Amino acid sequence: MRIITTIAEMHAQIETWKNADQTIGLCPTMGYLHEGHASLMDYSNEDNDYTVASVFVNPIQFGPNEDLSKYPRDFERDCKILEAHGVDVVFHPEPEEMYFPDFCTYADVDVVSDTLCGATRENHFRGVCTVIAKFLNVVQPDKIYFGKKDAQQLAVVRRMVRDLNFDVDVVGCPTVREEDGLAMSSRNVYLSPEERKAARILSRTLRLGQDMIREGCSDSKELLDAMKTNLATEPMADIDYVEVVDGISMQPIETFGKGDVVAMAVRIGATRLIDNFTVGDMAIEIPEV
Ligand code: AMP
Repeated sequence: MRIITTIAEMHAQIETWKNADQTIGLCPTMGYLHEGHASLMDYSNEDNDYTVASVFVNPIQFGPNEDLSKYPRDFERDCKILEAHGVDVVFHPEPEEMYFPDFCTYADVDVVSDTLCGATRENHFRGVCTVIAKFLNVVQPDKIYFGKKDAQQLAVVRRMVRDLNFDVDVVGCPTVREEDGLAMSSRNVYLSPEERKAARILSRTLRLGQDMIREGCSDSKELLDAMKTNLATEPMADIDYVEVVDGISMQPIETFGKGDVVAMAVRIGATRLIDNFTVGDMAIEIPEV
């Protein structure tokens, strides 16, 4: 496995592969990897001749009061995981390699970015889209892999790729969960043992929502009222949002069907956790706890 830190070296590597007619999959990450990240590499390996994973904590997607400086990092451990999952190249640039001091060009997706996490995390998706646009130019992958755990991120990137004509397939991969149902996240390490237990309320509440849908519910208000009542049974849970949105535009809808997304962001102590499911995508079972 090769570790590349500069854009020039990355371009040279990509040129060699392209000249040999090889296909490339790209899995962007911010590191501190877990099995959820690793599953993206596995999908990419199945589909492509070569897999590139980026490990880059992207400063421009963090707000002034967010966790950029304390975002967990362990590049050595990440490399072991990436190597075990057959990654060919790790792209690990310093922020200075990605952003000139007078950098001032952004990719900004309206509408799809305005709801859910975008409503409170100002400029977050502008930062995500900008770094992904740059990675697409640097790596020129045939396919790029994202987790459905970040449903809005996936929808926003799909829209950018369509609207700006990037020649890449965007692949959404299932959410990988801990045994008790909690969606894996690099941020889970922030949780104290007590908070970690309280965090089960997210997947339990999604499961409640899935059960209601299986029993025929298609009314957003009815679903959301029941889910909010359930979240309120956990005293440590502080709701940021629970919404039902159109699966493509991420706009709230009154009645829902297949492909729409039930999404939540909940604070457990100081840690903000997100989770969701897509209606009709019930193959992703949330374990009973
Ligand atoms: P991050 O390092 O948090 O930016 O995540 C990098 C990629 O991994 C994103 O596409 C995430 O959606 C994806 N990802 C994070 N957690 C999970 C998970 N539990 N299951 C599947 N994919 C995930």
